[in-house]
Amino acid sequence: MAQVSTCRHNRRVDYCGRFAPSPTGPLHFGSLVTALGSWIDARAAGGRWLLRIEDLDTPRNVEGAAQAIQRTLADCGLHWDGAIIRQSERRERYRAALEQLVREGHAYGCACTRSEIAAVATIGVDGPVYPGRCRDGPAAGRTPRAWRVRVDGTPVAFTDRIHGRVEQQLETALGDFVVLRADGIFAYQLAVVVDDAQQGVTDVVRGADLLDSTPRQIYLQRLLGLPTPRYAHLPVITNALGQKLSKQTRAAAIDAREAPALLRAALAALGQDLPPASASRDAMLAFAVAHWPPQRIPARTAATSPDSPAR
Ligand code: GLU
Repeated sequence: MAQVSTCRHNRRVDYCGRFAPSPTGPLHFGSLVTALGSWIDARAAGGRWLLRIEDLDTPRNVEGAAQAIQRTLADCGLHWDGAIIRQSERRERYRAALEQLVREGHAYGCACTRSEIAAVATIGVDGPVYPGRCRDGPAAGRTPRAWRVRVDGTPVAFTDRIHGRVEQQLETALGDFVVLRADGIFAYQLAVVVDDAQQGVTDVVRGADLLDSTPRQIYLQRLLGLPTPRYAHLPVITNALGQKLSKQTRAAAIDAREAPALLRAALAALGQDLPPASASRDAMLAFAVAHWPPQRIPARTAATSPDSPAR
């Protein structure tokens, strides 16, 4: 098994952060803002910063994207600690967690198809709310396709370092949610919880598009007896049309030659004081770490960066 980077051996500082990109394309300005925010937060705390490639959703993986992301992070001076872990090499861990959930009565096999669910479901934060049809076992003659975690009506709440108190009632927002998909792929929600715990991550700093996922992750942590990290959700960068920068919206890949200007624009998007435009890449990063009030990060889920270079 590949060596797994963890923060456990660092007893001096109780901080371990991580950047966990999905290799669906090269790093763009939006993912640079996320990477930079979590890197500065870790370095300002004297902590470690890990890189995890979230490549479980194999149909969405793009050949060479993981290597391109690594190269761009290094070109931008965002160096990670320890070995990189890849979720595709860790399926046994996710299987063990699922088995624990099933054994303890928290997860069950579901035979419903998407269209069966869509025909009766209300719409929640992440598509149709599962109506619970297979909770007591699939109907006779039906075979489970996916595995779901049973939720209840108790709200799950946490205090985000940027957004303050966030609360979600999983039952009305999602219903029993999927942890192993019908195509045999472990759901992001399960994998991220297993990995953050195993790597000893204390601080999750990531895009606010995942704010809605955090209560599911905290719920799973509780079911699995795992610690809950601190959370900070950064604004997601949108283009002029208000769309999240992504491969789908044709966001441009980071050009390493523009690293200092892009890092400065990313700091602006994070509401931080700006180093002189003439500063070198490493001087920008050193300035950013020395002047990091995370309280200045805008508590918005989305932001168009005025300084983001027109591309
Ligand atoms: N892999 C996820 C993404 O690229 C991020 C997961 C996380 O930071 O928890 O959107």
